[in-house]
Amino acid sequence: MRLKIVQVGEAVLRQQARRLTPDEILSQEIQGLIRLMHETLRDAPGVGLAAPQIGLSLQLAIIEDRPEYHKDLSPQVLAERRRQPVPFQVMINPVIELGPSRVEFFEGCLSLAGFSALVPRALTVRVEGLNERAEPVVIQAEGWHARILQHEFDHQQGILYVDRMRSRSLTTNENLARYWKDMSIEKVRAELGIEGPAEG
Ligand code: ZN
Repeated sequence: MRLKIVQVGEAVLRQQARRLTPDEILSQEIQGLIRLMHETLRDAPGVGLAAPQIGLSLQLAIIEDRPEYHKDLSPQVLAERRRQPVPFQVMINPVIELGPSRVEFFEGCLSLAGFSALVPRALTVRVEGLNERAEPVVIQAEGWHARILQHEFDHQQGILYVDRMRSRSLTTNENLARYWKDMSIEKVRAELGIEGPAEG
């Protein structure tokens, strides 16, 4: 069974999600929900899914970046993004701390189907929260993993990548593949007339 992923324009994507209690996390409802979200994420496919995206205003998100998603990406692209496989991970009631460096890459969202844009994000993060067994966990991440964590954290605050994107870089995924995918970010910025610091 798959859950319906809501699209931008649904109010739930703009709400501050509420925290879950340990009892709720261990309940059959939430355990079942996590399993369904996992199936839905794999089916999409995507690397992250937050509860608001399936219409539930809860501080719960799942992440998984599978090696098979990297098959069609060049070693150069993977290295530039510092993208490594991430095993299935559940993030509940997160608190995030951003590292000092910023990097920007094209990013998309299952709730804004068909589009991508350059989004500046912290290169490193530290996230404290609970896992699916309601145990406290600390996740230290960098590169693409850090980007996914920031994106999913934002969902729980009612923030979408379009709030943070370089708006001139917004593109359909079709045109991303056609024109921008293999270009260096510096060149993309120059072509699109994007100013401001690339990294800070
Ligand atoms: Zn998203």
